Amino acid sequence: MSEQPIWAIIPASGIGQRMQSELPKQYLRLVGKTIIEHTLDRLLSHPEIAGAVVVLNPNDPYWESLNYQAQSKKRLILAEGGVLRHQSVFNGLEKLRSFVRQDCYAMVHDAVRPLVTIKDLSRLINAARQHSDGALLGAPIADTIKQLNVDGSINQTINRSGLWRAFTPQVFNASLLMDALKFVAKNKLEVTDDASAIEVLGRTPKIVLGSAENIKITLPEDLILARQIWKNQTAPVEQ
Ligand code: C5P
Repeated sequence: MSEQPIWAIIPASGIGQRMQSELPKQYLRLVGKTIIEHTLDRLLSHPEIAGAVVVLNPNDPYWESLNYQAQSKKRLILAEGGVLRHQSVFNGLEKLRSFVRQDCYAMVHDAVRPLVTIKDLSRLINAARQHSDGALLGAPIADTIKQLNVDGSINQTINRSGLWRAFTPQVFNASLLMDALKFVAKNKLEVTDDASAIEVLGRTPKIVLGSAENIKITLPEDLILARQIWKNQTAPVEQ
């Protein structure tokens, strides 16, 4: 088994138009602190994660005031985000390479998924260490999937067997992910996650079943659900 360190890359450069909020969604408060602080707390509390690269919008006026670096026992590196998510992740990896010379794994995790469990992180890390094309958390699709025409009528129903939702975290060898994201940028491909970039190189990352509690906070109603999940996750276990 490889003992390469694992570094979290947290793309947090989005401006959150879907949340109808002035504040980018990662800075909204969940319970006692902001979403991004909860996300970092979860990842950095895992013993196998060495530190994190936080990728911020170049015009971000909020991060500094959190003073997160001062409370963190693990190393934090800051990088500047790009226009597209994959550019933000690439910038984070480049910054990481300038600090950490040895080969390592990159665990890319959206700043707006604060509810990932430690158990899922461990299972994902084990899978990534055993599978050279990387691994990601995901879950099978439970709803029926419809493809629509432009007028909103149904064009067809997609057979959902074998279809999974891809979550983050996603873990890859950092150099492999850099190569994949370089290829995506050079060929102007559209990708919405990091596994897609690896797949265009002809590689086959592995999906690990993850808890559906690991929601991505995107819409205002997600925040209400997220608070409930957080309370359930942290409630003392009844005897
Ligand atoms: O926009 P989307 O929902 O895909 O955002 C997922 C994550 O990627 C968020 O944490 C967001 O801040 C981040 N992001 C980024 N740079 C961008 C776009 C999104 O870091 N250009």
